[in-house]
Amino acid sequence: MRIPTEPIGSIPRPAGLIAAITAPANGADLTNLYNKAISDTLSEFEKTGSPVITDGEQTKSSFATYPLEGLTNLAPEGMRIDFEDGHFRQLPLLTSGPFRYGNYAVKYLTSAQKQTTKPVKQAVISASALSLIYPPNGIEGYTQAEFMEDLLNECEKDIRQCLEAGAYKVQMDFTEGRLSLKLDPSGGVLKHFIDVNNQVFNRFSKEEQQKLGVHVCPGGDHDSTHSADIDYADFLPQLFNLNVGSFYMQLASEADRVRVLKIIKQHLKPNQTAFIGVIDVLNPKIETKEEVRDRVLEAAAYIPINQLGTTDDCGFSPFCDDVSTTRETAFAKIKARVEGTRLAEEKLFS
Ligand SMILES: [Zn+2]
Repeated sequence: MRIPTEPIGSIPRPAGLIAAITAPANGADLTNLYNKAISDTLSEFEKTGSPVITDGEQTKSSFATYPLEGLTNLAPEGMRIDFEDGHFRQLPLLTSGPFRYGNYAVKYLTSAQKQTTKPVKQAVISASALSLIYPPNGIEGYTQAEFMEDLLNECEKDIRQCLEAGAYKVQMDFTEGRLSLKLDPSGGVLKHFIDVNNQVFNRFSKEEQQKLGVHVCPGGDHDSTHSADIDYADFLPQLFNLNVGSFYMQLASEADRVRVLKIIKQHLKPNQTAFIGVIDVLNPKIETKEEVRDRVLEAAAYIPINQLGTTDDCGFSPFCDDVSTTRETAFAKIKARVEGTRLAEEKLFS
């Protein structure tokens, strides 16, 4: 394809799997259910025609917390992220050092690769998101600087393992980027987050950075967002300072897409590709391929065609228990993305 198209990552877990996760006492065979969910997801993904696929994050607890699985030096009641509909998600807090991941993303990648011949991309969580687990009052005998050094090493390792295992792309989820402007409208926190993540990206060569990407969105959980009211105009100029090749940006659900496209056009750098969201993952209505085509053509009027790609606005279920979208809807939307992108290609390259 001349216009690349990629998913973000997550697909809703099968209902039977969610039931077994939320009520483990019922004694269901979780390993078996997980394996079946992965193989079903890969095969459904292949049927959509998507040239790049993922494992649908079927076995991740969430896009943000997978590295914390199994750790014993955590306490509840860390930073709370409030969504527009009133529900919230909360990070844990670290109670002692040293900080090491309990789980690395390469595990998901290699288990997917065993079951498909298609290119597989892998999402990882950002260093900036995990930096929030260090308690504001500090940890005796383990300074914030020591924590940050450990965190950067672990985040680098998480990415490098995926590259070495042959990930098609490694995408860092940076959903707290836009959110940071809500917590700190001055932009200081955002600048700090960009700097932290660049400290990770700068450990990779220019060639490797072309295989790295960043996903941004206003959050997507139970069909609700946490920072959709933050203006892209305040966020995007900083975003493109991240030293990666691909940017996966929510756009379909924006009220004024053309305004955002103009800002992207102004700030996108020559070695960067803008994967624009052409599928609104929070809207249950399935886009037609013609609608997708028109969104791509709209974007192509502003973004150079050789720097344009398409994606979904977000994952379809970033947290494992989110059942607001069905699997059928998710795959139908992905199919529309792929087919609509092809239709746009035919127009643009005819
Ligand atoms: Zn997202």
